[in-house]
Formats: sequence, C-alpha cells, structure tokens
Amino acid sequence: MAKPYCCPNCKTNKTRFNLIEQHAKIVKLDSNTGEIISEHTKENIEPYHMLYMGPSLKIQCGVCGLLEDEEMFIKYATYRGKEST
Ligand SMILES: [Zn+2]
Repeated sequence: MAKPYCCPNCKTNKTRFNLIEQHAKIVKLDSNTGEIISEHTKENIEPYHMLYMGPSLKIQCGVCGLLEDEEMFIKYATYRGKEST
C-alpha cells in the first residue's frame, strides 16, 4: 500500500523522490583475486552464509539529496500530517 512521503531534511518535498531498489546478490568470492566463483539463491545458499536483512528500498529526496530508509520519509509525512490538523 502506498503511503505519502515527506522529506525530513528539506521539509517541503512530498513529490520528487528517487526510489533505489536493493536486490542482494549472493556470491562466493575467490579469497585471493576477489573474483566471483559462484552465485547463489536463497534456495541453494551455503550454510553460515547470512542473508541480507536490510531494507529492500532506499529513498533519496529529489530536492535536497537526503538518502534514507523509506520509513523515515513515511514517519515524517505522518508527523507533518498530524501537526497540521
Ligand atoms: Zn529533501
């Protein structure tokens, strides 16, 4: 469900944003060269390899350039919404 955003830094932007989708690529590297030896999926991941736990989306303000989690922009929009009523 879509929620309104408001930038907590410049405090005015509610419409222009860059949505950065983060997709973790699971790889195994050669310890000497850094080259990718193999790529994995969640289904065939090796034991002890921790899955990416971070947010799938990062948001950048299209006005001031602030880069934050989506939650920050939603929370600020909610806060601003309450303030004005
Ligand atoms: Zn901003």
